[in-house]
Amino acid sequence: MRLCSIASGSSGNCIYVGSEATHLLVDVGISGKKTESGLNSLGITGNDLDGILITHEHADHIGGLGILARKYQVPIYATRGTIDAMLESGSLGRVDASLFHEVREDEKFILKDLTVNPMRISHDAAQPVAYRIAYGDRRIGICTDLGAYDEYTVESLRGMDALFLEANHDVNMLQVGPYPYYLKQRILGDRGHLSNENSGRLLCRLLHDKLQTVVLGHLSKENNLPELAYETVRMEVRLGDSPYRAEDFRMMVAKRSEVSPVVNIA
Ligand SMILES: [Zn+2]
Ligand SMILES: [Zn+2]
Repeated sequence: MRLCSIASGSSGNCIYVGSEATHLLVDVGISGKKTESGLNSLGITGNDLDGILITHEHADHIGGLGILARKYQVPIYATRGTIDAMLESGSLGRVDASLFHEVREDEKFILKDLTVNPMRISHDAAQPVAYRIAYGDRRIGICTDLGAYDEYTVESLRGMDALFLEANHDVNMLQVGPYPYYLKQRILGDRGHLSNENSGRLLCRLLHDKLQTVVLGHLSKENNLPELAYETVRMEVRLGDSPYRAEDFRMMVAKRSEVSPVVNIA
C-alpha cells in the first residue's frame, strides 16, 4: 500500500492512496494537468484511477475534479451534503450524474482490494469527512480541514500504520499576520483548521507501536512554515504524556506544490 501527496495546502490538495491493483485520489484541488503529472510520477495515468474520494466542497479540494472526472470517467465518492453543495455551486461543470456515489460516515465500502471508511470532521462545509483506507490489515488515515478534534476523532484514527494529518497554521503567525479579522476567527474556530500545536496534541493521542509514518499537510502559505510545523509537532510529542518519542516514527511535511516522497506501508 502506498501514500503520496501530489499537492497539499490552502491553494490545492490532492493525495494518492493505492495498492498494486487499486488507485485512488483523495480530493482534486489542483488542475487536471498537475494531477495527471503527479499520477505519472507514480507510474500511473488517469485511466488507472478507480475512484476519487472527496472530503468537502471547498475549492482547494475540488478545483480540478470536474475536468479529471469528465476526461477519465472516474467515479466520485462523497457525502450527500458535499455532492449537493458541489452541484449547487456549478463548479464542476457538466459531470455525468452516474459518476457520483454517496458515502456515509462510518459506513465502510469496498473498492476492489481497498476498504474505505469515511469519518466525521468539524469544518465549515456542508458535510465534510476524512477518510481511512485499508488494505488487508494495513490502514492509512487522511485527516485535514478540521477546526477541532474530540474523542470520536481520536477513536476513529486509532491504529493507523500511516497518518496524513493537518498542521495548518502557527497561532502566533496567524494572529500577527495579514489576514482580516473575520478570516482569522474562521481559521481559529472549531470549524476551521488545526494549528500546529493541536495537530501535535492529536498525534500524541494516536501514537502506537505500529505507526510508521506521519505526513503533515494542508499548511497555510501565509501563516506557517514547514520547519515550524515539523518542530512544533515534534515538541508536542516530546512534551506529551505518552510513552512514545518523536524518534519512534518517521515524519515529513508535504510540500504545497511538489509531489512528496512515496510512503510505502509493507
Ligand atoms: Zn476546507
Ligand atoms: Zn482545505
